[in-house]
Amino acid sequence: MRNKKITRKITQGMYVLTTKDGGCIVDAVSQISAGDYPLISVAVMKTNYTNSLLKKNRKFALSVIGKEEDGKLIETFGMKSMREIDKFAECETEDIMGIPVMKNSLGYMLCEIVDAIDNDTHTLFIGKLIEADVFKDEEAMSYGYYQEHKDDLIKVTTEKGRTAWICTICGYIYYGETLPDDFKCPKCGVGKELFEKKTKEN
Ligand code: FE
Repeated sequence: MRNKKITRKITQGMYVLTTKDGGCIVDAVSQISAGDYPLISVAVMKTNYTNSLLKKNRKFALSVIGKEEDGKLIETFGMKSMREIDKFAECETEDIMGIPVMKNSLGYMLCEIVDAIDNDTHTLFIGKLIEADVFKDEEAMSYGYYQEHKDDLIKVTTEKGRTAWICTICGYIYYGETLPDDFKCPKCGVGKELFEKKTKEN
């Protein structure tokens, strides 16, 4: 492949995907049909805890992250696991048909799952929109904007004096001067090209 980075030019947004008992940050969301109850697809990594919850639950919500969001939603839902913290205790939510949606978002789309397609790394869930609302009519955060500003949006705490490699997808931290050639993120499975080096003096 000559330069795979062109795929980063696909326009995607930033969303908090929630279902009963869990949630995560997603960017691969598309509306795939029109009408009163359009179909909306969302891709979720198979290694993600939320994926297993979605296979049990029948509904999910997508809360749209605004461009002005301070990073709290992304930090809580993108960089941590429900296995470690209760994400819902960290952010204000509203219950819509049994699914918590983020109050500090531009609004939500609530979908009923009608299909799920597995590939090697992700599951594509297809949902029918059954409820939706707008909280704030402001500009949404794009995935490109997030990639450009993630150092300001997410405060990753690394140990002083040690070289850290941070997974730009899930926030996993690897300590060491270099990443092994065949390194894959143990948390989300991406290769070493998606890791960024951080060195902290003193
Ligand atoms: Fe990762």
